[in-house]
Amino acid sequence: MTSPVNAENSLPAGLYIVATPIGNLGDLSARAADILSRADVIAAEDTRVTAGLLRHIGVKRPMTPYHDHNAEHARPALIARMGHEVVALVSDAGTPLISDPGFKLVREARAAGHLVVTVPGPCAAVAALTLAGLPTDRFLFLGFLPPKEKARADAIAEVAAIRATLVLYESGPRLGACLAALAKGLGDREAAVTREITKRFEEAVTGTLSALADRYADAGPKGEIVVVVAPPDPPAPASLNDADAALTEALERLPASKAAGEVAKRLGLDRRDLYARALAMKGE
Ligand code: SAM
Repeated sequence: MTSPVNAENSLPAGLYIVATPIGNLGDLSARAADILSRADVIAAEDTRVTAGLLRHIGVKRPMTPYHDHNAEHARPALIARMGHEVVALVSDAGTPLISDPGFKLVREARAAGHLVVTVPGPCAAVAALTLAGLPTDRFLFLGFLPPKEKARADAIAEVAAIRATLVLYESGPRLGACLAALAKGLGDREAAVTREITKRFEEAVTGTLSALADRYADAGPKGEIVVVVAPPDPPAPASLNDADAALTEALERLPASKAAGEVAKRLGLDRRDLYARALAMKGE
């Protein structure tokens, strides 16, 4: 895409999604600092928080608030500006759009044909995954679960069968109740409570959900928290009895090779073994 280039700073005009530190200011990337120092305007969740970050890098740039309460109103002007100016989007900490505002801004920027650039960096969910010591090949990010008991239980039930590590944000005061609800809805899986990542008191406490729920039942810890929960155990392999029962039933409808194929797929067993068994059952 060709975009107008802001003559003053030579960056192409558009929307720049800039990730910022989740605690340790040293995690601001050189590229993030560069984009922020050359932005025509920084759309910030809380301009006081972002002012602190700009002070840290010795930069002063115009800012405008962009948060859940003013986004509808503020968006059209930002969309118009990014046609000819460099608009940077930041949240208070971490990656914008991840449990933070920005999704509609990106969607509308794209619809308007503007350049959209990401400047990736810290994200508490991904940082927690790296600390937890749980499988990372498949994970599902749940953001914040609903605070009310029934809605939270429903949200947990919805993901109970998903074969993926779960990652969620939670606050200290709600942590104990949240862990107890997870133990009830998911079974007593392994989990990690990661806290204050990249800060002085960073920690990852691991254990079963019920042990962690007990630990935090009375008093939630201070600071910012990400909970990581192991995927469900794989189902126990089917027994020979299960295989025989399934084959007997399938052989009433299908020839041996098809019966073996169907049962192999359903029970996750070897098709050739099942075919040999099916032939033996038929006395062939
Ligand atoms: N956009 C952010 C990101 O990329 O991680 C998340 C914003 S969300 C509004 C804030 C939540 O992220 C906190 O309540 C906490 O659950 C989690 N969080 C942020 N910083 C954290 C940190 N340093 N350690 C642990 N959790 C953190």
